[in-house]
Amino acid sequence: MASGSLEFRKKVLFLVAAYVVVLTFLAFILIPLYLPYTLIIWLIAASGGVFAIVEWLAHNTIYVCSNCGYRFRISAFRYAISPHGWKKKLLRCPKCGKRGWCRALYAGEVSAGR
Ligand SMILES: [Zn+2]
Repeated sequence: MASGSLEFRKKVLFLVAAYVVVLTFLAFILIPLYLPYTLIIWLIAASGGVFAIVEWLAHNTIYVCSNCGYRFRISAFRYAISPHGWKKKLLRCPKCGKRGWCRALYAGEVSAGR
């Protein structure tokens, strides 16, 4: 179970690192050459990339209700706006309606746990 989580975290770190490297590279090579259009395109690509990462994270994370134990996924929007703690998130359970700190399970842990 723990290895699945670690694998997932490595994947996330790699994805974020690759994203930052590509964007930084593009910023130094492209933007000074063709201002201001490249800056606009770069900003769109940067925000699109952040959205894609959040969307992917939201899709690969399952939350467990602290009250009834119900497992559920959340949207990328909710993922971005909800208060976040270490491996937990303040969410309202869609089943029992109670608001609380829901434990986060990553895709690897869930499949290993079943
Ligand atoms: Zn619940």
